[in-house]
Amino acid sequence: MEDGTKDRLNIGMSDHYTSEMTARDQRHFFANENGDPLHAAFDKKRVVHPGAMGRPLAPERINEAWAKVMAKEGKKEKRAAYFHIPFCETHCLFCGFYLNPFKAGEEENRYVDYVIQELEMVADARFINAHPFHAVYLGGGTPTALSAGNLLRLLRAIKKYLPLANDCEVTVEGRIHHFSDDKVCACIEGGVNRFSIGVQSFDTHVRRKMGRIETGEEVAERLRCIDSLDQTATIIDLIYGLPYQTMEIWEDDVKRYIELGLDGVDLYQLNIFKVGRLEKAARKKLVALPADIKMQADMFAKAVEIMKHARYRRLSMSHWGKTTRERNIYNTLALSGKVCVPFGSGAGGWVDEYLFFQDRSLDSYYQRIDEGNKPIAMAMKQPENNDLFKTLIGQMEQGHCHLKGLGGSYGFKLEEIFLPILEQWEKVGLIKMNDGWIDLTLAGEFWQVNLCQALIDYFTMVISGHPGSPGMFAL
Ligand code: SF4
Repeated sequence: MEDGTKDRLNIGMSDHYTSEMTARDQRHFFANENGDPLHAAFDKKRVVHPGAMGRPLAPERINEAWAKVMAKEGKKEKRAAYFHIPFCETHCLFCGFYLNPFKAGEEENRYVDYVIQELEMVADARFINAHPFHAVYLGGGTPTALSAGNLLRLLRAIKKYLPLANDCEVTVEGRIHHFSDDKVCACIEGGVNRFSIGVQSFDTHVRRKMGRIETGEEVAERLRCIDSLDQTATIIDLIYGLPYQTMEIWEDDVKRYIELGLDGVDLYQLNIFKVGRLEKAARKKLVALPADIKMQADMFAKAVEIMKHARYRRLSMSHWGKTTRERNIYNTLALSGKVCVPFGSGAGGWVDEYLFFQDRSLDSYYQRIDEGNKPIAMAMKQPENNDLFKTLIGQMEQGHCHLKGLGGSYGFKLEEIFLPILEQWEKVGLIKMNDGWIDLTLAGEFWQVNLCQALIDYFTMVISGHPGSPGMFAL
């Protein structure tokens, strides 16, 4: 953007730093010291999801890697399965996840047929049957765009082919648009016990500008109706920082959620994807500018204040629960890098030591399955120490990390390794240190992804033998 807009906004936060950190990049480890930490600790969010980059597998080795994993038992730990439904009826302006227009009928049936084939292909694998699945998630895209018949067909196949734990959390994500009674009932009949509905904002003007269809009142009424069935946990997503969404509107969004009395809510920061539709529209001044990072920080703080005042349970940095029905198992497992077996075009997930990404192109997704292969387009072998990183990320999502205990489990003195940056973060007000623990302050919670990424990158730099600290902290 030519007018300095780019510098104001949190654009490009999907840039991912690799573990190849140079001395020049060290400035990313330390927070800015001028300005209050909530607004100015860093210039922008560095990543959407923190982590370390693995090594990509050569395409010809992917099928072999998948077969090798499927022949193992895998770790005995809670695991998830993710099903991607890569269709949407409309393309929302802010969204970076849109893949294909939804076409009811033949194409929808064909897609569900292929996902069921994918399930059949792994149904007898040792890895799949060794341990029960504790969470199943149908995400997208828009799973609720599928017909009632296809939702039920897919859910029944999941139950038939995967060993689901008796108390498995089964989530269908979607939107209110065209989520009719017959579909809701089909989901419940198919074993769904959790709906995660993308609302984003209850303000009709904001919604319409973002390409959402129903009014805020229509959305609230439909949510009341689904919730009144009393059969599932009902969760909604709200986004802060959207164009036209003032602080008053955001406060109202959070309060309207509380009035509805639903089981849980995700309060997400707006991601502006590089060269995405929202960035282009903002550049051409076709929409109002989204909130800048300082305003987003204030919106985050306001939401935390409201949710704490209402005594909701904090389940992660962005997720809150009201009732015991909301367990948030899938998100917790996915955020801490646990096994998540991917199904469907565009799905991704960790399985054993690999991160697998399935083909996003529908034609080649179908072709790979026709050839008898798992439709994986890309695979990364996890980097060294990745289990440590995943556990660290999982703990930081809870707002604290027991560095002493975590390091002890993996053979490192993490409190010593991280001391230079921890001391600086404590000085600027991002964390508090206490007897091997670090606790995030409100500002630390807002910048939590930057802190996680900095810890992972710093650890990698130190342990990989950066001058002056070649492995000196190993126990
Ligand atoms: S927000 Fe949901 S419905 Fe809208 S384009 Fe993205 S995935 Fe599709």
